[in-house]
Amino acid sequence: MIKRFIRRVLGLDDSPGLQRVAQARHGVTRNAISASALKVCDVLAERGYSAYVVGGAVRDVLLGIRPKDFDVATNARPEQIKPLFRRALLIGRRFRLVHVMLGPETIEVSTFRGTDSKSAEKDQHGRVLRDNVFGTLEDDARRRDFTVNALYYDCKTGELIDYHGGLADLKKRTLRIIGDPETRFREDPVRMLRAVRLGAKLGLSVESSTRAPIKRLAPLLEHVPPPRLFEEMLKLLLSGHASACLRQLRNEGLHKGMLPLLDVILEQPLGERFVTLALAQTDERVLSERPVSPAFLFAALLWHEVLAAWKAREKRGERRIPALEVAMDEVLETQSGKLAITRRLTATMREVWAMQPRFEERSGQRPWRLLDLPRFRMAYDFLALRAASGEVPAEIESWWRAFQGADEETRRAMLLPDTGAHKKRRRRRRKPQGAPAPAPVE
Ligand code: ATP
Ligand code: MG
Repeated sequence: MIKRFIRRVLGLDDSPGLQRVAQARHGVTRNAISASALKVCDVLAERGYSAYVVGGAVRDVLLGIRPKDFDVATNARPEQIKPLFRRALLIGRRFRLVHVMLGPETIEVSTFRGTDSKSAEKDQHGRVLRDNVFGTLEDDARRRDFTVNALYYDCKTGELIDYHGGLADLKKRTLRIIGDPETRFREDPVRMLRAVRLGAKLGLSVESSTRAPIKRLAPLLEHVPPPRLFEEMLKLLLSGHASACLRQLRNEGLHKGMLPLLDVILEQPLGERFVTLALAQTDERVLSERPVSPAFLFAALLWHEVLAAWKAREKRGERRIPALEVAMDEVLETQSGKLAITRRLTATMREVWAMQPRFEERSGQRPWRLLDLPRFRMAYDFLALRAASGEVPAEIESWWRAFQGADEETRRAMLLPDTGAHKKRRRRRRKPQGAPAPAPVE
């Protein structure tokens, strides 16, 4: 009480105060909440703990969107939560929480976190390195990022608990950070990316004082550990609103910390067309709930970088395929340093890129060999995108489309006459002083 009073006198109290909103006024019913999340809350309540459904799920239900997953916040400690459920795992090093598995669902259960941001360990830019303290419900609400993400659904009473005016912001379709924007973005620069992503995904406009410091603070993303950036970038690209998000990231100057060369790519007319098409296609797939390959998407985002490096090497007289191999290495090294694109992903990206020149070979046995490769379909989709952006003749893509669907006899008839270019190349390669043969496709 006293602490709160002092905060208010000093003008530090940024929360408009606790509001308990009755079910009849907010309209979220138990039916909208997953049975597993309700079960977790009920079990905790039976043991005398308080437990609420919180975060993105409550926000999404209020907006009429089906939530992806449900999170529960409680005053029970991780070691008190775990034994209450048959299948539960303690996870997280920085902040321990419990994953409760009920049927096909996993509910993330976390203990209320404290916000003593003054004593939290920070780097020289204000980024919080450790904040492993438990707190009260009110503390927990204050450390969440946006007001619309700090709404707590009380499964027992059906009330919504709102400390920061999140309900009013949702009605106004506004995304507003809790507390002082600059401090909150310094504490965790990823919040700037979240502002862009959630704004685009939910159709909320980022409130002006929340938005104001973003351009200036954008360089702070450089200090965020690459795996964390990668995780957020993936969420952004697979949000179903990737085009809008990337456009917005670029407007805010936030893209530089993630894909350092994205602005260069987007300034080349063919590159821009290619990336725009790839993003539009991805959004369409996500929104119609079809699977999307992150490797394909990253391969597309970086393709024009690979192309530029490849062509430059060819111009300097390097042989075509080895030049492509080196160009791929170069681009992946520059780009994935910041973003920590996983090895599994870069392996697939390489395969897709390395197969591209092979689509030009439409004689002899080569088209069959290409068709047999496990990544053929992905590489062909990539070729289709290149054709649609005007980078390769549409005729090559339509040939491959027809070739895939044709029977053996038609395929044989489709083959182009062997020009002998390959024979010549092969002979040259056999010379003892020749450059190394192209690396096999992985
Ligand atoms: P979605 O799941 O749709 O991407 P979300 O808001 O649920 O959006 P999560 O990453 O699942 O995002 O986070 C769950 C909740 O945790 C958020 O709603 C927010 O309350 C809190 N949260 C997440 N990231 C941060 C952060 N960087 N700073 C403060 N609070 C955060
Ligand atoms: Mg979520």
